[in-house]
Amino acid sequence: MAVIKVHDKEFITYLSSETIEKRVREIADEINRDYSGKRPLFISILNGAFMFTADLFRYLTIDAELCFIKIASYKGLKSTGKIVTTIGLEEDIFGKDIVILEDIVDTGKTLHDFLPKLFHQQPNSLKIATLLHKPEATEYPHQLDYVGFPIPNKFVVGYGLDYDGLGRNLKEIYQLK
Ligand code: 5GP
Repeated sequence: MAVIKVHDKEFITYLSSETIEKRVREIADEINRDYSGKRPLFISILNGAFMFTADLFRYLTIDAELCFIKIASYKGLKSTGKIVTTIGLEEDIFGKDIVILEDIVDTGKTLHDFLPKLFHQQPNSLKIATLLHKPEATEYPHQLDYVGFPIPNKFVVGYGLDYDGLGRNLKEIYQLK
């Protein structure tokens, strides 16, 4: 098991790139089945979900639209509990089938603050796909339709997720030691 250092903290390998790839492919297969004949709009939440989104999209065979939005609510190792900004939702989502793409659902606060804005625009349907989920950290429960991996309530980096700006480029996911 590899130990790496990001800033001042040590992390150990938790999910290998092969494990992640296999699971992302399975989620794409499920989405391909569920949305067969439809044309969903995927809304990917930056920054963390960029890698999951790019990999998932490679395996989608349905017609799919994609946009990216940014909600900043996290600094360092703990959620600040504040939604700072939402940038980029210029699409008209009225009547569309929406799939939100998240890197990780932790307390659920980000989605709790963001989803009403979407429902306000009356999409036809809305589902949530998240690569990681920390069930023990839940403060705002959501129906998560596609979950890559339920994980313990420990800080993780890699595969798009950062620790204070670093670690997003790691192919594997690492857990705080
Ligand atoms: P929530 O609003 O559900 O508490 O947190 C969601 C956001 O917090 C995620 O999109 C992610 O940016 C950040 N986050 C939550 N847990 C972790 C973690 O273990 N590692 C990293 N790097 N970010 C996390």
